[in-house]
Amino acid sequence: MAKILVYVEQRDGKTKKASFELVGASAAAGNETHAVLIGDAVTALAAECAHYGATKVHVVQDAQLKYYSNEAYSKALSQAIKTISPDAVLAAHTPIGKDLLPTVAALHDGALATDCTALSFSGGKLTLKRPMYSGKVIADVEFTGTSLAMATVRANSIGLPKPDTSKTADPSQISVDLSGLKTKILEVVKGNSARPDVTEAAIVISGGRSLKSAENFKIIEDAADVIGAAVGASRAAVDAGYRPHRDQVGQTGKVVSPALYIACGISGAIQHLAGMRTSKVIVAINTDPQAPIFQVADYGIVGDLFQVVPALTAEFKKLKE
Ligand SMILES: Cc1cc2nc3c(=O)[nH]c(=O)nc-3n(C[C@H](O)[C@H](O)[C@H](O)COP(=O)(O)OP(=O)(O)OC[C@H]3O[C@@H](n4cnc5c(N)ncnc54)[C@H](O)[C@@H]3O)c2cc1C
Repeated sequence: MAKILVYVEQRDGKTKKASFELVGASAAAGNETHAVLIGDAVTALAAECAHYGATKVHVVQDAQLKYYSNEAYSKALSQAIKTISPDAVLAAHTPIGKDLLPTVAALHDGALATDCTALSFSGGKLTLKRPMYSGKVIADVEFTGTSLAMATVRANSIGLPKPDTSKTADPSQISVDLSGLKTKILEVVKGNSARPDVTEAAIVISGGRSLKSAENFKIIEDAADVIGAAVGASRAAVDAGYRPHRDQVGQTGKVVSPALYIACGISGAIQHLAGMRTSKVIVAINTDPQAPIFQVADYGIVGDLFQVVPALTAEFKKLKE
């Protein structure tokens, strides 16, 4: 049994489910699973950590931790590591997780594996799977030596355990000295999208250059609304101004691993595949039967997306009724 510390990410008092995948995986392996919450007034989230299997919940609270900043949060997580002395530290591979863990790893001289897609504990030893070379090979990663083992894991890679709401937490407070911070976040201006983020959604439906305009993405949005999906895009669609960069899937965009990925009019360039090939089920719609996307697709529809997507949306609606 190992002592595992999971950084449970929250924003505006809402936890990230991807963190609980890690809490659940660690707890299921019989580890002493510690969860740490960082923010301003986050104690109320402790119970949720217990529901997903945390043995012990820690809270680092300070008004200066209201918004994420690398400087303040790395101090907070670092203090938690010093207090708890875990064998390994895990975080979700979110924009915050992939910013925070490398800094903390550097502060602790830790060994870090990022963007992993599976993890296991054998005899208390953490091993991970990590895609390399744009997902062309999957490396098995284990930690040697005595450095603190640290890893970030892609959302939706493990699956969320069923929460046990009868479990309760008695969170312990960890105090951190945040005097002398060089940066202060005054305000966070949010994008106006009410849709789920592509990295977190269970279903992602993406469109490519073939959509031809921002307006035409309406057919992708209509389908997304019916099935509760996030809307993604290829880089070509983003570069053309059809979608904001936050929707870009791929090597220079976001890496997603949903239960279902629907690629509409996307050729399947290696840089796009790098961002979505670990999706559980891939559906591709393309007029070109030779398009490389079909090589990774579980289901392929050779056809014009302007006809196929609305037809699918109509069928999804019927199924929902
Ligand atoms: C360093 C680097 C980083 C990159 N990072 C990324 C990244 O993060 N993400 C990313 O996506 N790309 C990335 N790219 C770009 C990548 O190489 C491709 O150029 C891009 O993915 C192509 O986008 P696309 O598939 O939408 O467009 P295209 O390659 O133009 O493909 C359009 C596809 O739509 C099909 N089509 C056309 N009309 C229809 C229709 N009516 N119905 C159905 N299908 C139709 C065509 O047959 C074709 O397969 C990167 C490139 C480089 C060099």
